[in-house]
Amino acid sequence: MFSRLFSQRLRSCGKTMMSSQLTRLQRARLSSLPLRSATSNALIPRLSRSHSNFFGGAPLNRLSWLRQQQSFLNNLVPLPETQWLVFHDGRPLVSTERGSKAPALARLSTADVRSLLGPEPFFGQGQTVGGQAAASDVVALEGARLRGPPIVFLGLQEPPSSERRALPSSEFIAKGESGLTDVFANIEGSAYFSLNVTDIDQHTLDAALQNSAAGKRGAQLAFVDPRSAMGALDYTSANIFAMARSMHDWNSRNKYCPSCGSPSYSQWAGWKLGCSSLLPWAQQTEGKKPCVTAQGLHNFSHPRTDMVVIAATVDPEREKILLGRNKRFPPGLWSVLSGFIEPGESLEDAVKRETWEEAGLEVQDVQYHSSQPWPYPATLMAGLYAVADSSKPTRTDLDNELEDVRWYSREYILNILEKYGATHPSMERERSPDAPMSFPDTNAIGGVLISEWAYGKAGQDG
Ligand SMILES: [Zn+2]
Repeated sequence: MFSRLFSQRLRSCGKTMMSSQLTRLQRARLSSLPLRSATSNALIPRLSRSHSNFFGGAPLNRLSWLRQQQSFLNNLVPLPETQWLVFHDGRPLVSTERGSKAPALARLSTADVRSLLGPEPFFGQGQTVGGQAAASDVVALEGARLRGPPIVFLGLQEPPSSERRALPSSEFIAKGESGLTDVFANIEGSAYFSLNVTDIDQHTLDAALQNSAAGKRGAQLAFVDPRSAMGALDYTSANIFAMARSMHDWNSRNKYCPSCGSPSYSQWAGWKLGCSSLLPWAQQTEGKKPCVTAQGLHNFSHPRTDMVVIAATVDPEREKILLGRNKRFPPGLWSVLSGFIEPGESLEDAVKRETWEEAGLEVQDVQYHSSQPWPYPATLMAGLYAVADSSKPTRTDLDNELEDVRWYSREYILNILEKYGATHPSMERERSPDAPMSFPDTNAIGGVLISEWAYGKAGQDG
């Protein structure tokens, strides 16, 4: 962060700061150095194979064009294949089968959660409780949910063998009764919804869980810390969990219209927030202009993603890596530097600024590696590599985020990875007491960047 304090420091020690910047000659010398690892001139593979990180992978077809179609959604809910993820205050429900010690993300049926969903219709609710779903041509009520606990439609898990993956084509558009029949004849797989039970009373919630199929067969159902839940996730469920958790967080944090302050309500099965001043029955104040969300596209009506750059800075020979210790890290944990992208910055700009502000180092040759959704609460991590001169001094007195920052050799890092492994990204697992330091494991993109560099994978041509 370019705080006032930082600006003052910059002015007060301008000479020092300037001398730590590269001269034109140094820059030329640096850029002429062979940018190579043991195997290649490329820092990352050219036209690299895409790297899919934990929490990514998109196993569901989101059917985003059907979120407005309440008749489709309402007919999807009762299907026996439909599955539900359940969250309480951001904590996912996990299930541990009798005799097992390994929890898994709980997937309940509609029958299991029916007592928690509130009155029908579930989507396209009108002014009064019960009755028919709202007419599909009332835009303000498209997929609207005005009562009952928050629900998000996550998508459809289609069979891997399916040759009929749904597209927004005429076969999969649920307009009118005939369209709806066609869609249900054409889709294959299991629909996923998620339910936020934070405001449901404990007695009702406990009864539903005990009477669920898992509860009846003796499985233990519990809401757990969302970071420690990572250990209960396989690759497919990790992405579904990430989408659901970020969406519930966004819905629960935006209770009021940012434009006019009226209460907001859920539309499009949880994917849009409407302004209640625009509901068909809302009383309009004479002379007052309607809320600006009545017209046009407004980014606060749709889910947001906060983007962060996370960059592994290496020396020009690719034999050293810059690692830092955030003040909030548990003892012994080191990782690559990261920070939120600010408005008006490219990925490359943000990497340069963050490394400069946090470590006092100028980087160049910033190259993208891969990205990772990070549902704590709704971040997209953009992973990159950058190059800096390791002979230049580093400093951590700049923006007060880092406790320490140092260069480490590949040999040293490899030795620790081989001997002790990495630390779970929930950062709750203690490092081995003998290990001199630890790193995030490869479920977190910081761990991927460190590991790929250390093992020389970030450097092999495609
Ligand atoms: Zn409004």
